[in-house]
Amino acid sequence: MGLVLKTVRADITRLAVDAIVNAANESLLGGGGVDGAIHRAAGPELLAECRALGGCPTGDAKVTRGYGLPAPYVIHAVGPRWRGGDRGEAELLASCYRRALEIAEDLRLATIAFPCISTGIYGYPFEPAARIALSTVRAHPPASLAEATFCCFSEEDRAVYTRLLFSEEDVYPNL
Ligand code: ADP
Repeated sequence: MGLVLKTVRADITRLAVDAIVNAANESLLGGGGVDGAIHRAAGPELLAECRALGGCPTGDAKVTRGYGLPAPYVIHAVGPRWRGGDRGEAELLASCYRRALEIAEDLRLATIAFPCISTGIYGYPFEPAARIALSTVRAHPPASLAEATFCCFSEEDRAVYTRLLFSEEDVYPNL
């Protein structure tokens, strides 16, 4: 039983998976983009739990309950702000995916959905970020995980994931 990777165009707050990942900032107190949407959909209890976590460094992740969301958990992952590409952005982006996957493993989650972290307000170029997302999930698949969904807000973004998912280099990563 391999891990199934898929991509959808959707509002991540509507997905009924075991955990959705939030593209959070270091404060964990909410923000714009997907973070704002998740807080609005989850309700004020999410902010209360986030406050108690005391923030999260870039490259790390922390988990809360999902409250009003269909997903029982939210994994708040803090990606880097794009500053030209030579300030450790790729390593930090991979690290926040790895930490989210470690949390998924600890919680024995079977399904998870990721937004394309750092590619909105934080300005990370989309395709390089999507490549890191896919390669990190492939390299560190939690034993419990059956399905990982890469959730995009636009059809254009989803098409990038589709192309990467079906390209030979990704289907046969060792060739
Ligand atoms: P960051 O600050 O990490 O860049 P953003 O929320 O601004 O975070 O953007 C991250 C990605 O999430 C972008 O690709 C954006 O299009 C996407 N996005 C924004 N809202 C949603 C949503 N409700 N569901 C799924 N993806 C979303």
